Amino acid sequence: KNLRTSFMTSNGEVQAVRGVSFSVNPGEILGVVGESGSGKSVTALSILGLLPYPKAYHMPGSSVRFAGRELIGAPEEELRRVRGNEIAFVFQEPMSSLNPLHTIEKQIGETLRLHRQLSEKEAKKEVLRLLKMTGIKNARARMKAYPFELSGGQRQRVMIAMAIANHPKILIADEPTTALDVVVQKGILMMLMRLQKQLKNTMIIVSHDMGVHYQITDRMAIMYSGSIAELGKTEDIFNDPIHPYTKMLVDALPRVGEDVQRVGIAGRPPALKNPPPGCRFAPRCPHATDRCRSEVPKFREIRPGRFAACHLLEEEVKTNG
Ligand code: SF4
Repeated sequence: KNLRTSFMTSNGEVQAVRGVSFSVNPGEILGVVGESGSGKSVTALSILGLLPYPKAYHMPGSSVRFAGRELIGAPEEELRRVRGNEIAFVFQEPMSSLNPLHTIEKQIGETLRLHRQLSEKEAKKEVLRLLKMTGIKNARARMKAYPFELSGGQRQRVMIAMAIANHPKILIADEPTTALDVVVQKGILMMLMRLQKQLKNTMIIVSHDMGVHYQITDRMAIMYSGSIAELGKTEDIFNDPIHPYTKMLVDALPRVGEDVQRVGIAGRPPALKNPPPGCRFAPRCPHATDRCRSEVPKFREIRPGRFAACHLLEEEVKTNG
């Protein structure tokens, strides 16, 4: 709620996340989408306190509540207990998260022995089960492999196996398929959906790729320049986007069987240091007015379960009461 995260740089303060609010329902897959620099990864990393503090800091009033506990400003020891056990994080680049010197069996096995107090024999059995769950072929042999011996897709599956090892209630995956080709990407997404059904946990998927969200998320939040432009059911957002930015994003998507040249969104997101006053999308928005250029639009519920930040939508709020 009202999450605001900044970084102190040699050029002064950079506000990466500016007042982001959303909730995640148990058992749902929530997508967070945005261009690079939109603040989506910083939002995800803020949840578990995984930013380079004190260079990164949260402004007063920022709150992340999980199971009745406040995570912003919680002692590191408490956050360490939450990480992996209750909320697990899958990073974008598995090669930098896996230890190149240990086999997959040792890396996942260590987590199991440490967090679930399994014996060596039990851990070995569990590693095999987890690898099978994530769809790794020839799992028994793959257990003995080192990370460099696996393909990008297999490494990502290993990371996911490690993340679910302690039965977390929430799994956060930051660009889990970005470095992979489309066929492997599809396999990973299907596996994530299958796991979510099987484990009945909650997932937050962070990705710049609208296709990823379309395929697996229940609801999605579209971020632009540090805040949420629109939030709602994925199906509704694709069928009837209401925020000008979302509309332009959806219009830019290619459609199978259509021989139409799609047009991208002209311009670039504003620099996070010294951004324009008012609505940050105004320089690229075809509907921008003087008010848009001076007054920040409020993020509010436009229709039941549908939130957006745009002055244009005020009339709809008034009509809907
Ligand atoms: Fe466009 Fe104005 Fe809405 Fe911003 S507030 S998205 S500039 S119409």
